[in-house]
Amino acid sequence: MDNNKTFTMIKPDAVQNGYAGLILAKIEKAGFKITAMKMTQLSAESAESFYEIHRGKPFFKDLINYMTSGPIIAAILEKDNAVLDFRELIGNTNPQEAKEGTIRQLYAKSIDANAIHGSDSDSNAKIEGEFHFS
Ligand code: ATP
Ligand code: MG
Repeated sequence: MDNNKTFTMIKPDAVQNGYAGLILAKIEKAGFKITAMKMTQLSAESAESFYEIHRGKPFFKDLINYMTSGPIIAAILEKDNAVLDFRELIGNTNPQEAKEGTIRQLYAKSIDANAIHGSDSDSNAKIEGEFHFS
């Protein structure tokens, strides 16, 4: 399978806090090409479907409430080794543990509102990209 594409969402907290432009600039500076992008607001149904794997976990309800709380920016990004390089660029799920200079360390405050999503595998990148752009 191709390993040159990933999917991202700039999450509601980052859009709300005015970090979208800074985050997109950082993504482009890191060598990712934005090949599709849109601002949208997730319905509860689409957020639940997107995070289906976490259904039943203690944070699931808060995660859905948060992801539907305001607009997000969804995008498809291209670069060699896209999935892994992008996970490196965004940093640990918990911003408190994210490395210096990563997007979550710079622009996120908590594990619940962590500024950005990045696909965790090539197969999920494909599924998630198609979920938002088809
Ligand atoms: P994302 O899929 O949003 O890019 P991730 O891949 O780094 O994040 P996942 O394990 O897929 O992390 O979790 C999805 C989202 O669920 C996280 O971004 C976070 O907001 C929330 N989450 C995960 N684990 C926890 C937790 N232990 N407590 C609270 N929220 C959590
Ligand atoms: Mg994930």
